[in-house]
Amino acid sequence: MPSFESINLKGIVSDLDGVAYRGSSPIPDAVEAFRRWHADGIPYAFVTNNATKSAADFATRLTRMGIVAEPEQVFCAVSATASLMRRRWPAGARVFAIGERPLFEVLEAAGFTPAGDDAEVVVLGFDYQLNYTKLSTAVCAALGGAAVVVTNPDLLVPIENGYEPCVGVLMAAVQAAVPSCRPIVVGKPEPLMIEEALGFLGTPRDGTIMIGDQIATDILAGQRAGLRSVLVTTGVAVAARTDVTPDLEVASLLELIAD
Ligand SMILES: [Mg+2]
Repeated sequence: MPSFESINLKGIVSDLDGVAYRGSSPIPDAVEAFRRWHADGIPYAFVTNNATKSAADFATRLTRMGIVAEPEQVFCAVSATASLMRRRWPAGARVFAIGERPLFEVLEAAGFTPAGDDAEVVVLGFDYQLNYTKLSTAVCAALGGAAVVVTNPDLLVPIENGYEPCVGVLMAAVQAAVPSCRPIVVGKPEPLMIEEALGFLGTPRDGTIMIGDQIATDILAGQRAGLRSVLVTTGVAVAARTDVTPDLEVASLLELIAD
């Protein structure tokens, strides 16, 4: 394992779930590490595939846990989806979305028009109220040629006492019904959110690290963005078939703090 002191640490991009907290419980070493980085003036930003909350929601949650965070420092799948769509489709484009309230709010703010199976774009996000009617509308729109945008490709999300199925399962269902559709994936392992975080930090790639607990999403996204990656083993490991190797593996973020 390479010595971490060899990296002149200028900035940090970090995952949230499994790194800063696990379920609703903060991870004490992570809270302490981010407090030290904040005191030392090392800028950090967070990237999360969780598409059920807004950046402001995450910043509030982090601040309550003792990690100083402003909404501008949080790059989440919901806001990244809206910014990708604003670049690709004009305001007023007809959109059918499956998701929670924060997703609908950003799509409305971006000026898209809610639609049914006549939509030009189908957005797949996390929805605790997912049902057959919504799936059917998404499939019919995709059959009609709608583009499919997916907030994040995760299949399973670790929760306190196990896992719950995530948006990747919904994407797989739509793809099974419409094999010709080529979903546009927003969240990690695509590097879009990492690039947005880097733009915010303004730090050089060779001095910025990506911290995550999932090799197939966090570590791969960090590598695709040209960052050195740190796997922290505080998350709940989900077995993933991958040959991606992190630059460093730690059991606690405090191992990254230079004394
Ligand atoms: Mg995670």
